[in-house]
Amino acid sequence: MKYEAVVGLEIHVQLNTATKLFCDCPNRPGDEPNRNTCPICLWLPGAFPKLSQEALEKATLACLALNCTIQPESAFDQKVYYYPDLPKGFQLSQHHKPLSRNGWVDVIGEDGKMKRLRIHHIHMEEDVAKLVHETEGKIPISLVDFNRAGTPLIEIVSEPDMRSPHDAMEYVKTLRSQLRYTGAAECSMEQGTLRVDANISLRPKGTDELNTKIEVKNMNSIRNVGDAIAYEIVRQTECLERGEPIVLHTRLWDPEKRVTTAMREKFAGPCIPDPSVAKITVTDTWLKKMVDALPEMPGRKMERFSKEYNLTPEEALSMSQERDISEFFEDVVKENLPPRKVASWITTHLLPALKDRNQTIRETGLTPKRFAVLLAMLEKDEINANAGKEVLSQLLSGDQSAEEIVKKGHFRQISDTSELEAIIDQIVSEHASDVVDYRNGNLKVMGFLMGLAMKASQGKGNPKILKEILTKRLG
Ligand SMILES: [Zn+2]
Repeated sequence: MKYEAVVGLEIHVQLNTATKLFCDCPNRPGDEPNRNTCPICLWLPGAFPKLSQEALEKATLACLALNCTIQPESAFDQKVYYYPDLPKGFQLSQHHKPLSRNGWVDVIGEDGKMKRLRIHHIHMEEDVAKLVHETEGKIPISLVDFNRAGTPLIEIVSEPDMRSPHDAMEYVKTLRSQLRYTGAAECSMEQGTLRVDANISLRPKGTDELNTKIEVKNMNSIRNVGDAIAYEIVRQTECLERGEPIVLHTRLWDPEKRVTTAMREKFAGPCIPDPSVAKITVTDTWLKKMVDALPEMPGRKMERFSKEYNLTPEEALSMSQERDISEFFEDVVKENLPPRKVASWITTHLLPALKDRNQTIRETGLTPKRFAVLLAMLEKDEINANAGKEVLSQLLSGDQSAEEIVKKGHFRQISDTSELEAIIDQIVSEHASDVVDYRNGNLKVMGFLMGLAMKASQGKGNPKILKEILTKRLG
């Protein structure tokens, strides 16, 4: 039998607020353990949570960026479970009345067509403490770090609209790009500020039943999300073909062995309305303020880029996917540079270099102005493309200006006419028979002689001037 996969994702995103969700402790989980705590986020009896306005605003921006409808009223519940990372015995989460419902993201499907993947709802919740497993001598011990306890999360629950690893990876990529645009979250899977759980089930192709699903956790990159889903599809297909029923349980992705393994379940209790946190009631005025605060989102920006700067759809997409790159691009263009050339240099040289360094553009310290100086030198033929690449690499690793780098590295093109004339004269005299060929109509000789001239100038000859001189000499 042919099966098809039914995949839904639950994504936890940590909001980058200054403080935690219900207290004034800094939202910095990476600090020295148990530094950022108070009676509220240590969950001591009698401590009273108060909802952070900043967290509510950032959660709302995130919901709007994912096309969700903010609910007029939402509220927190106590999600009861018992575990050492949650000593109070319940997590404040929105179960019955989530902040927003019914969103979507559009992705390019495997067939190249636009595919809309729906979001069921997005709710807010507090994160739990972090368990650190170590050994003391030979005895395994577990430590609890409360820095993360009570930090603000949103959980984005999709509809089971994805059919393949491709769909799931595109969904995470697009959603991450939209969320980063709002400035509400960093969304780093490596650092755990975006965490993906996948629900995967199979059904006979062509039917619309929803079968028992397996939840897979612990994937810390988009590629791992794809690989874990692909692995589960194969594993479940083999189970079904052997006649084994699929039993509801949770599995962990093992990135080393590249397999999923069954994990022990935490006890999950009921969800009961919380009496201590006030209900959230959204007014039209406040909501309008939030909608107005939303930046220009990538889809719209892409359209504007292709119109305003005459970029191709691919160029416009590549320049608009990440907010920092899109802003960098526009700032460079403002320095009076041709937009397509700027886009081309960013796509072909800058983005791959950032990827190699695993750095954001801000982390490299490369400002639009410094990059623009390099492009202007290329534009004015002061250096050629090969030299430009070397200059860019040095711009990214230091704070020298493009001019200084060009000067020190002797990258400047030779545009001095007498120097270039000498080169051409030498070549023309050494290749007299080729010159005759050219005059007899073999125009290919021009390219051959140009190649020799570039080589003779050690790649630094200004090709435009060289060609002018050569044309004159051959004419
Ligand atoms: Zn606190």
